[in-house]
Amino acid sequence: MRTAYIRRITKDLIKKNNYSPPIPVDDLVFKSGLELREVSSEMDIDAKFDPQKMRITVNRLETNLFRRRFSVAHELGHFILQHHINPWEYEDRDTGKSFIEPEADEFAGSLLLPEHLLSEQIKKGTPLKDIQKMFQVSNQALWVRIEIYKLTNFLRV
Ligand SMILES: [Zn+2]
Repeated sequence: MRTAYIRRITKDLIKKNNYSPPIPVDDLVFKSGLELREVSSEMDIDAKFDPQKMRITVNRLETNLFRRRFSVAHELGHFILQHHINPWEYEDRDTGKSFIEPEADEFAGSLLLPEHLLSEQIKKGTPLKDIQKMFQVSNQALWVRIEIYKLTNFLRV
């Protein structure tokens, strides 16, 4: 899995577009040349990316904003990381397991909660509730990133 590469490109995208939290995911979808379409689907699907149509479809019935942002960022990750081009290339040589989904999650996580911006807030002692509001992410997504970036030691309790 290309973790360092993914963190670098998400950071570059934020810089290039002059984004600050909350990262405007929909705007980045449009700037990437993709269409964003909302549909109402009773099916248990949040979002999907169609490489032929260059379109991300998002389920309007998913009313949780934080979840929607993460889902759209995840699908954008599939496009930016070009998973649709040679999908078989993204397999762990030892286990044969595909890392396409973990890569898209890493993309979404590091786009919405970039290491440099999150660690700045944590080290400043900003309360987690405020950080969550600032970045517009779920509590769960925030905790995942705090652990991945090894920031737990800096939390003030
Ligand atoms: Zn996916």
